[in-house]
This record gives sequence, C-alpha cells and structure tokens, in this order.
Amino acid sequence: MNLAHNKIHCLVIPFPTQGHINPMLQFSKRLQHKGIEITLVPTIYIFNKSMQELTSSITIEPISDGYDDVNGLFGAKSIETYLESHQKVGSQALIQLIEKLKNKGNPINCVIYDSFMPWILDVAKMFGLVSGVFFTMSCAVENIFYHIQLKELKLPVEGHDQVLLPGLLQPLVPSDLPSFVNDMGSYPPFLKMLVDQFSNIQEADWILCNTIYELEKHEVDWITKRLRLRTIGPTIPSMYVDKRLENDNSYGLSIYKPKTDVCMKWLSDCDDGSVVYVSFGSMAELKEEQMKEIACGLNKSNHNFLWVVRESEEPKIPKDFLDNIKREKGLIVTWCPQLDVLSHKAIGCFMTHCGWNSTLEALSMGVPMVAIPIWTDQCTNAKYVMDIWEMGIKAQANEKGVVEQEVVEHCIREVMEGERGKEIRKNATKWREVTKKAMDEGGSSDRNINEFIDKLVL
Ligand code: UDP
Repeated sequence: MNLAHNKIHCLVIPFPTQGHINPMLQFSKRLQHKGIEITLVPTIYIFNKSMQELTSSITIEPISDGYDDVNGLFGAKSIETYLESHQKVGSQALIQLIEKLKNKGNPINCVIYDSFMPWILDVAKMFGLVSGVFFTMSCAVENIFYHIQLKELKLPVEGHDQVLLPGLLQPLVPSDLPSFVNDMGSYPPFLKMLVDQFSNIQEADWILCNTIYELEKHEVDWITKRLRLRTIGPTIPSMYVDKRLENDNSYGLSIYKPKTDVCMKWLSDCDDGSVVYVSFGSMAELKEEQMKEIACGLNKSNHNFLWVVRESEEPKIPKDFLDNIKREKGLIVTWCPQLDVLSHKAIGCFMTHCGWNSTLEALSMGVPMVAIPIWTDQCTNAKYVMDIWEMGIKAQANEKGVVEQEVVEHCIREVMEGERGKEIRKNATKWREVTKKAMDEGGSSDRNINEFIDKLVL
C-alpha cells in the first residue's frame, strides 16, 4: 500500500438497484484494499432492506431519495417522478453528508457516482472534489448511447436493416440495440436517462467502466480517443477471479434472500456439468406465455435445471409443471447465491437474460450461455455473447417476442451436447482466463485502477 493513499477518502454512490450496487460495492472493496478510505452511500430504502447485513468493513452513510419506505423506488408513481425526487432530495442530502464529514474532520476528496445520476457531478464541483463517473453497462452499450447524444445515431432506427456505428466492432440489426433505442416508445424516461449520462461527461475527471479491455478492444479504443474512460472490471468478488482479496467471496448484500442451503445441497447431488441454471435477474418481468415456454423447453431438454423465479413472478409458472417437477430433475427457488451456483461444477450452462453483471459473472467463471434477453442493454449483451465472444447462443424469439419451447430445448441441447457446444465451451474457458488476467497484478484493469488511485494522490 502506498502511504499517501490513506489520505484519500472517496464517496461511492450507486443507483439503488441490485445490478448497480453490486459492481460499485465491489469496486469500493478494491479501492479499500489499495488503501483508500471509502464511504458507500446507498439510499435509506436499500440500507434498511439489505445493507445492515453487509459483512465488509466499508463505512456506510445512507441518504434519502424521497422513497425511504417499504417499496423504495418501486413505490414511485412513475420512473419520472422517482428520478425527479432522487435528484431533488438526494442532492440536498448529499450536500449535507459532505459537510457533515468535513465538520467531523474526515473530509472527502473524491466522489464516484453511478452514471445514471449525472447531477451528482454538480455537487462534486460545488465542493471542488475529484469526480469519477461509473458506468455499470458494457462499453459497447455506452458507446451506442454516446452516439445518440452526439446525434451520430438518429432515432428512430425504424426502416434500417442494420446500424453501423464507428464505436462498435460489428453492425447491429435493430433488435440487437438496447430495447429503449430499438423501440423508442417503450420506456422514454429510461432512454432519456441513458442518453443524459453523457450530458456533462466532458466535465467529469474520470470515467470508470465495469468491463475488460480485452473483451471490447474496439469499443474501448474508440471511446478513449474522446473521453478519459478506463476499464476496471470485472467487479466480481476477488475469490472468483484473481483471489487477491482474502475472503472476498460474495458481494455481501442481497435485496432478496438467497436460498443458499437448498441450492447448494441440491447441486451437490447432481453430476458434473449436468445442470442448466436459469435466471432473469432482479428486475425483468416475463410474459406468462414466456414462462410456460421456458418450463416446457426445460422439460423437453431432459437436463437438470435450477431456476430462479422471484416471488412476484411465481404465479406465472404453469401449475401442472410445478406439480410434476421431479425433485431430482429440477429445483425452483426465489433467489440463489448466483456466484456460488455459477462456479459449481454441476453447472453446464446458464440460461440468462444477459444483465451485464450476470454476463460478466458467466464470462469470469467460464460458463456457456443461452441468452434470452428481455429488455434494456440485455439485447446488445446477447449479441456480443453469441457473435463476438462466441460463448453462447441467443435464443431467437418469434414475431410476438416469445422464445418458443422448441427453441429453448434446441439451444440447451446445442450448448450442453452439440458440436457447436464444444467450441462454445472452449471459448468460455478462454474468456475465464482473460478475465482473471485483467484483475491479476499488472493486468489491464489492475493497471487502470492503480492509475486512477495514483492520480488521486497527486
Ligand atoms: N443474482 C443473485 N441471485 C439470483 C439472481 C441474481 O445473486 O438468484 C445477482 C447476480 O449475481 C448479479 C445481479 O444479481 O450480480 C443481477 O444483476 P444483472 O446485471 O445480471 O441483472 P439485473 O438484475 O440488473 O437485471
């Protein structure tokens, strides 16, 4: 540890959802390990729901976003209402927190904030603090939104067969674009939020992206000619990657309670590589018809499966499927310890929505994927999984946007049994090594994290 590092104190401020807290918490642990003092700033709702159980020694200072009660941001009338409140209430609370820490003799030098909240840059500037904006999505996805902000990609994209952008390695068909871009009418406030990430980006001192240079060379080279972006991923507990942070084997917080014992016991009775792990993350909502097709596809594939279905999604599971699952064939749980599951030798493939964390976790653990993207950046991640990293297959949806059971069955068989599966599994192993190397001492992400810290000291 550089002695000067312990004079630095960073505030780390994630957006209040599981997929945003995990990477920023993990990045905080990396900085702390290198001697930086960290204060993590979740919302009061997130703190009450999950953070009291956090095992790491990181200091936590929750602030209000105006939605402190039982449902947090899900209690807001609309996403616009929430974002407005978050900015208004959150910026006041943040100002008070920075002043409080200064008065206590523990002042802040740097604010690292989720790119979904560009208004935090104004607060950092007000206090003359170093600012680091944190991207939780892939560089390819960020490049797409940057092209939109620069007006180099004109919306809507309707009528185009392909979109070819200088910041992307390959042309994309519209359905490979983030869903808010391909279908502009679907969630206009989200589209605005993602484009607005770049509204003041030139003024941020640092841009930290949770990806790996070797995964997205073209994309990273393109953006770093324009912005001071550094790749610092994968932000996965160290014991699954480089093993340099002792005992760091879980994110340490979970909004939902994992059924750890049940899952691990069940997996330990399964043969190596025999299980399809199925999960659509913390937010995606599937159509009832899609749930049925997945259930039937799993059945037809005849492989073992461990399926995470959140409580709110449970009523969509076909009743006869539930009644007939044989205990030795399948297990359905409301939440699982995903890292432990993905790294278990019984897992043969991961049927995933391709949330960016899940994708990075599968890449880091060398688990082949069957991609069923539901919305947002997942559509672009699925394209990269299949065509660029060639470590999975994207299941093709029909004209109603549903992946049919025959397709589910076929994709599982391809990855678990077929000739193509062999190649996919070989690539998965290759990416696992690349990912680990990036976090090893002197690896591309490790160097970038050190550079960021060294410049903070100067
Ligand atoms: N996760 C988990 N248990 C589960 C399902 C998901 O711990 O049963 C974790 C997973 O490891 C990942 C995060 O939840 O870190 C989900 O993030 P992702 O970006 O993949 O998807 P999102 O939930 O944001 O759609």
